[in-house]
Amino acid sequence: PENITVQELSNRMAVRVADIIKFMMRQGQMMKQSDELDADTAELIATEFGHTVKRVAESDVEEGLAGDIVDSDENLEPRPPVVTIMGHVDHGKTSLLDALRQTDVVSGEAGGITQHIGAYQVRVASGQRVTFLDTPGHAAFSAMRARGAQVTDIVVLVVAADDGVMPQTVEAIQHAKASGVPIIVAINKMDKQGANPDKVLSELTQHEVIVEQFGGDVQVVKVSALKKEGLEELVEQILLQAEVLNLRANPDRPAEAVVIESKLDKGRGTVATVLVQMGTLKRGDIVVVGAQIGRIRAITNERGQQLQNAGPSEPVEIMGLEGVPEPGNVLNVVENENRAREVADYRARAKKQRTTGIKSTGTSLESMMAK
Ligand code: GDP
Ligand code: MG
Repeated sequence: PENITVQELSNRMAVRVADIIKFMMRQGQMMKQSDELDADTAELIATEFGHTVKRVAESDVEEGLAGDIVDSDENLEPRPPVVTIMGHVDHGKTSLLDALRQTDVVSGEAGGITQHIGAYQVRVASGQRVTFLDTPGHAAFSAMRARGAQVTDIVVLVVAADDGVMPQTVEAIQHAKASGVPIIVAINKMDKQGANPDKVLSELTQHEVIVEQFGGDVQVVKVSALKKEGLEELVEQILLQAEVLNLRANPDRPAEAVVIESKLDKGRGTVATVLVQMGTLKRGDIVVVGAQIGRIRAITNERGQQLQNAGPSEPVEIMGLEGVPEPGNVLNVVENENRAREVADYRARAKKQRTTGIKSTGTSLESMMAK
């Protein structure tokens, strides 16, 4: 590799020239910005500023992935809201998800929701659709958020009417607030003796979830997952909130999706549930997910139907990934296998560097320097 000036290195690493000069001073060398550095010195500096190096290289290697394409307004079409149900243990999250699943207007038909794929879409009478994510658990939710994956548009906060706000309720509120996602409160178990919805509302106020009757803008629906009461109103509130959010995506572009869950299946290989966030995922697409690559061999919905493609807000199970990705990993469709390998290799190296810390292999520097 050739020499590089301090200035150029600073540009490529996106750090200030002054910081490089300061670092070199501590090494006992005075430098100015036009000075040339040999590869070893550049590498030393690069590893010192390791974190930033990655970002610059990343923007080179990862440039042009679907997320970079900016959609113009006329390409955007309405998409279904993606809803996560959160709340304290035993307050009825699973029961509510099951009950909502049964509100699906086409589930009576052949192939109702049969598969457990970690997410499902409900079609309501108006023809609108709502995507529900099976409660990923707060840990998974945090992991996704830590990876910057914003998977949910709306949080339905389930609070049992006979139990009130509990520690995991508070946690859920914090997650929702930190991600800037609106909350709809579902006060569950209204059928129970000792149900006290007013107490729930005042407790929520203490955690800055202010419902309409207290002058806030958070919607509340009283439900009973057990008796299947209030479910239509809940769905209605979700659709209203979705309208306010003006959720839209461009279906006509290479897909970007986020991994909800994945596993290695003996017969089928890697099976992953992904939520398409933009574009349309098609069978045969070549994809890169984290540091894994793959070719989409099958797309299946929660009805067990094989699909040719899946559009925005659609949760589907896919087959054809080489490795097992982690929840929160982003899947991008790329134009060909070489491109997929390039991105995946780069990410694998970057990850290795992150985990081994300072030890640079030299290859990584080369790739950073390569133009
Ligand atoms: P999760 O831990 O939040 O997923 O809660 P579950 O859905 O597993 O429910 C916990 C318990 O509460 C179960 O025994 C449910 O049958 C019960 N449950 C859930 N919803 C209702 C409801 O609306 N009314 C009554 N009476 N019990 C409910
Ligand atoms: Mg549960």
